[in-house]
Amino acid sequence: MKTITILGATGSVGTSTLDLIEREPDAYRVLALTANCDVGKLADAARRTGARRAVVADESCLPALREALGDTDTECAGGADAVCEAARMGADWTMAAIVGTAGLKPVLAAIEGGKAVALANKESLVSAGNVMTGAVARHGVTLLPVDSEHNAVFQCLEPGNADKIARIILTASGGPFRERSLDEMRAITPAQAVAHPNWSMGAKISVDSATMMNKGLELIEAFHLFPVDADQLDVLVHRQSVIHSLVEYVDGSLLAQLGAPDMRVPIAHALAWPRRMETPCQRLDLATVGRLDFEAPDYARFPCLKLAREALAAGGARPAILNAANEIAVAAFLKGQVGFLEIAAIVSDTLERYDPAAPDSLDDVLAIDGQARQIAGERVKDCIA
Ligand code: NAD
Ligand code: MG
Repeated sequence: MKTITILGATGSVGTSTLDLIEREPDAYRVLALTANCDVGKLADAARRTGARRAVVADESCLPALREALGDTDTECAGGADAVCEAARMGADWTMAAIVGTAGLKPVLAAIEGGKAVALANKESLVSAGNVMTGAVARHGVTLLPVDSEHNAVFQCLEPGNADKIARIILTASGGPFRERSLDEMRAITPAQAVAHPNWSMGAKISVDSATMMNKGLELIEAFHLFPVDADQLDVLVHRQSVIHSLVEYVDGSLLAQLGAPDMRVPIAHALAWPRRMETPCQRLDLATVGRLDFEAPDYARFPCLKLAREALAAGGARPAILNAANEIAVAAFLKGQVGFLEIAAIVSDTLERYDPAAPDSLDDVLAIDGQARQIAGERVKDCIA
């Protein structure tokens, strides 16, 4: 029996994770489930799985959670510290699927307390890559990439040949606006941006896919996960999302992982690793797919991708600033306060206005993150005025 904790259990990745573990109730025991304040969904999942603990990050939702759990044996707790405490309970396998910077402390807590951490929260590696990988090494934890591209790369890695990797190529669907001109992108609405052609995901990452910031964040994520330099990381637009990424070796071999665009495939890989498990996912029928298309990314129409590449190359605090400003800009876009193209402008201006020293600790990262949010927030106000 494997003990499981899911951080962000009510979100898109969290729900897919629950779907897999609930199919094999004898194989898994749920230690803790956490959410921000989605009490109904959290309590339902806790009931179904018999979770030992359910935690809401938003403490004001704790009374509602307590009521929703009723006479179950599930303990409940509230507040950001309680989420970290749950992450530190020492599960055999922890899914880190909180969205955004809110996931940083819980991811570090899971690394400190856990055994295997399945990482969906890419923002923690973008903002605090060195802090996280340092903690992984110190605590001897296994970090299992869940982001579909990174999971694909992980599957293509050959033991003993880490130094023979020539290139890692992350595929990108190009999002819903792959063929739009910059001018056409000006009037894009939040509803259009969150409607991804291939994947069903949370709102923030859907907007990131539409701006291609998601691929930029994934370049930085890949840099921290795999033994390559920044200039060995490439992006390839592949609209069908059938090839999830590729690894090129020095002999010219190119290995790829293919599958239907269903997050349960990479989640199942991380859950069963180093073995494999059955999933209900649709099997890929390549004859029906018929053809696969590829093109180079267009950095002019997708400036967020360029900004992320530059932040990766510069290193230090740049990725944390990029990530924080992007979260503020995306939240403002989703609220209808700024236009789609202003997301890149807000990120770019924040990077221009703020250039602190490289962070050494998670506290440093969080201080940089906070300051970058403030600067980006001021820029949002300028857009509204
Ligand atoms: P989501 O918005 O659907 O779910 C987010 C989860 O985090 C929810 O359970 C929510 O309650 C919780 N949460 C939100 N704010 C919180 C806070 N302040 N404190 C504690 N918990 C909080 O997001 P998602 O699409 O499932 O994405 C989760 C993470 O996985 C993101 O980092 C995303 O980039 C990454 N990811 C998602 C997908 C996907 O297909 N959805 C694919 C690859 C990577
Ligand atoms: Mg991805």
